[in-house]
Amino acid sequence: MRQKLSPRENRKAWLYAALIVLGMVLCIALAWYVSAQEWGREAVYLPPANEAVLEKAQTLDTIVIDAVFDPESKQLTATQVMTLRNPSGQVLDSVVLRSYSGAYLSEDTSPAATDELFAACYGERFSTGGLILDCVQVNGETVRHSWNEDKTVLTLPVQWSAERTLTLQLAYHVNIPDCGSRFGVKDGIYALGNVFPTLALWDDGWRTEGYCAIGDPFLSACANWTVRLTVPKGYQLAATGYAEPALLADSAVYTLQAPAVRDFALVISDRFTSASAMADDVLVTAYAADKKAAQRMVKYARQAIACYEAHYGSYVYPTFTLAEVAFPYGGMEYPQMVMIGSSAIAATDDTLEVLVAHETAHQWWYAMVGSDSYYEPWQDESLCEYALMDYIGDVYSASARENAVFQRIETALRITIPRGVTPGSPIDYFQDLTEYTQVVYRRGAALWMALENLLGKDALDAALTQYQEAFRFGHATREDLTLLLSQAAGRDLAPLMTDYLDTYITN
Ligand SMILES: [Zn+2]
Repeated sequence: MRQKLSPRENRKAWLYAALIVLGMVLCIALAWYVSAQEWGREAVYLPPANEAVLEKAQTLDTIVIDAVFDPESKQLTATQVMTLRNPSGQVLDSVVLRSYSGAYLSEDTSPAATDELFAACYGERFSTGGLILDCVQVNGETVRHSWNEDKTVLTLPVQWSAERTLTLQLAYHVNIPDCGSRFGVKDGIYALGNVFPTLALWDDGWRTEGYCAIGDPFLSACANWTVRLTVPKGYQLAATGYAEPALLADSAVYTLQAPAVRDFALVISDRFTSASAMADDVLVTAYAADKKAAQRMVKYARQAIACYEAHYGSYVYPTFTLAEVAFPYGGMEYPQMVMIGSSAIAATDDTLEVLVAHETAHQWWYAMVGSDSYYEPWQDESLCEYALMDYIGDVYSASARENAVFQRIETALRITIPRGVTPGSPIDYFQDLTEYTQVVYRRGAALWMALENLLGKDALDAALTQYQEAFRFGHATREDLTLLLSQAAGRDLAPLMTDYLDTYITN
């Protein structure tokens, strides 16, 4: 029997019903929000390119690549068309490309085959790999080409007037070595960093320095990249830029557009899981063998982007991607993407967070603002170490920042470095990765702490934002940066820079 409710009980029943419905709506909204923020593939929304990128793109060379990846033969087969403007303003009789993977062909020249790195990269045996050029044409005519000794410098004879555009067509295949490095395959993860040929940087002559084992000895100007890559079904692709694949019966085709970037890197694996989320208007995606690791990488990267945008101005690219690579370095930066070492992912302390914060900072200092990573490696590395201090201060606390400054930067000033290397030394002066990190990253960052004391934090951030906006898509020299900082300080800072960068400290 159903009893009639009193008006008061009736109101109560309606109130409960309304509360239950409201609760359900809130739960659904919360579940949608959490999935959109952190975990769900449905969160993927590819933001349009920033106006600054599109404007710059109109003035740049284009590189269009069609490639097929075959894990059975560990090979990438590609055609590449480059439309190039003469960067020199003068008549040239050759065009020079950098094709760094050639160094991995021989044990004598591979940057992964040094005493320090060989076992970690190759295990017991050397494995050869690199780009093999099948055909090259200049403006439709087949030309004879020549390589330098370590097969990283490709020279083509041309008659190239200052105003003329040159079209190069390359056909090549890339054999991928068994090697845990920025180029190679290990643990089922194929890393293709510095694999696609780029125009050598013009700097009163073609830059053709060696592809040494320490640091990031690669330089290139921004160009507009389009890469169409076919991979077998089941393989996922992390890259400069982002694209949802077109799925065919037994393969997937990715078409990636990356305007105004200075290089293009790929990481491919059938072991990847992914996580993605928006950081303001930037799509952040991480790929790793472990789903939880990918989620942590996204979380740290979002925090880092928010921090650096607040201190140094906007990140201009629409996407940022992180990919696990089984290599012995912590991480490795490329435009719009970074490689993150498996050992950092496996670490149980704060290694992964510190690494993601450092590598994300390279999107400001390297990817957007280029500098001379061969002769002035401090110019981006020390700024990334300094950015890490800002990350720790913003995400944790001012005292955590002070502690990190002491542990990482002040301590590095006190240890004994046996030879006369200084933060301002070129990369080929350093004998191992530890020495390079202590001197260039950490002692180098002491300069930024001194500038913070001298100018004040807000004024230094304003100067760094100005630096980012003035030099993005280009290359800033040490003199450019010194002048900009001197203007911010109202006095010549060259002597202070010399003190911190070029003076050998004896303890
Ligand atoms: Zn770095």
